[in-house]
Amino acid sequence: MELEQVRDNLRARGFRAEIFPDGKAASDYLNAAIDGTTVGFGGSVTLKELGLDKSLSTHNDLHWHWVGDSTERDRAMNTEVYLSSVNAMTEGGELLNIDGTGNRVASTLYGHKRVYFVVGQNKIAPDYEQALWRARNIAAPKNAQRLGMKTPCAARAERCYDCNSPERICRGLVVLWEPMFGTETEVLLVREDLGL
Ligand code: SF4
Repeated sequence: MELEQVRDNLRARGFRAEIFPDGKAASDYLNAAIDGTTVGFGGSVTLKELGLDKSLSTHNDLHWHWVGDSTERDRAMNTEVYLSSVNAMTEGGELLNIDGTGNRVASTLYGHKRVYFVVGQNKIAPDYEQALWRARNIAAPKNAQRLGMKTPCAARAERCYDCNSPERICRGLVVLWEPMFGTETEVLLVREDLGL
C-alpha cells in the first residue's frame, strides 16, 4: 500500500499524519513544531538514530532516561510533549507497542498534550496479525538483544520464544486504534527504514 493511503487511513481514525522523504525532514519538522516546551522521550532507537535528543534539547527542556539517569523516566511522564516510535503499525492505521516497564506505553495513552510517533516504513505491516507478529518476532527480540537481556531470543534475535524468563521484556501490549481523548496525536511516516 502506498504511504499516502496509510496516511489517509490514519487521518480517518483521527490521528494527525504526515509523510516525510527521510528522517532529516521529519527531524526538521519536529524541531519547528516543538519549541520552548517540556519534552519526554520513550525508549526508541528511531529517536536516537535521528539525534532528536540532541537537536530538541537545544531549545526545549528534554527528559529521557537513555541520556540521563533512571529518574528521568518519571520526569518524562510529566512533560507537555511526548515522543515515541512504534514496534509496528498496520496499513490501516493501528499503532502497536510492547513494553516492559510501561512508562513508554503509558505516556502514549495519557498525561501529555501532544504525542508524536516517528515511524519508519519498515514498521508498517499489511494487517493486525502481521503487525503483531512483527512487534513480537522482530522488534522485541532485537530490543532484548540490544539490552543484553538473558532471554532465549537475545542471542540471535531471530524470533520470539514466548519465554517466561525473569528478564522477559514483553510484559504489555498497547494498541492505539484512535487518538486518546484529550491528546493531540500525530504520526510521522518516513520513507526510509528507522529503528528496530
Ligand atoms: S517474550 Fe521473551 S522470547 Fe519473546 S521477544 Fe519477549 S523477551 Fe524475547
